[in-house]
Amino acid sequence: MDYEKLAELAKRCGFTAWVPLDVSTLEVKQAVRDMCADNTCGAYEKRWSCPPGCGTLEECAERLKRYSYGILVQTCGDVEDGFDFEAMMEIEADHKSHLQEMYAALRRTGEDVLALGAGCCTQCRECTYPDAPCRFPDRAVASMEAYGLLVLEVCKANGLQYYYGSDKMAYNSCFLL
Ligand code: SF4
Repeated sequence: MDYEKLAELAKRCGFTAWVPLDVSTLEVKQAVRDMCADNTCGAYEKRWSCPPGCGTLEECAERLKRYSYGILVQTCGDVEDGFDFEAMMEIEADHKSHLQEMYAALRRTGEDVLALGAGCCTQCRECTYPDAPCRFPDRAVASMEAYGLLVLEVCKANGLQYYYGSDKMAYNSCFLL
């Protein structure tokens, strides 16, 4: 699928911004994985989508090499301030819903596609990790951070605005093809 079609699909799925993703800008960093290990989100060692369940940093880097182009997608919305967690959670939920819609549409085309999202996989209330295989491997999405990517740097390198002021919040994800 060419970039124009990807962009049309991103618009149809509800994202508020998108840009072509140059895969050569994807640099996996141990420091980002170390931030996951600090477990401030509480998902470390709890989900297949998160370290260590999503594979080692080297395995993630190898997986990224399989893809030659991509699209960076964003959902931006209004918040009252940096403590408006309710609005942030709503924007995040909308973003994840846009991501799943686009991911499903891309899978239906038969493309080999990798989706990397914002935050951990929330397909199941309780993840099966580590006792049983993932229930929905085609829908499970690891975060960009789980792959060692610093989202701010990826946005900057590809010309996608990251910060819109204290009354906006933006969530970012990508698809690699
Ligand atoms: S789809 Fe379910 S089992 Fe698989 S990683 Fe996500 S939460 Fe875990």
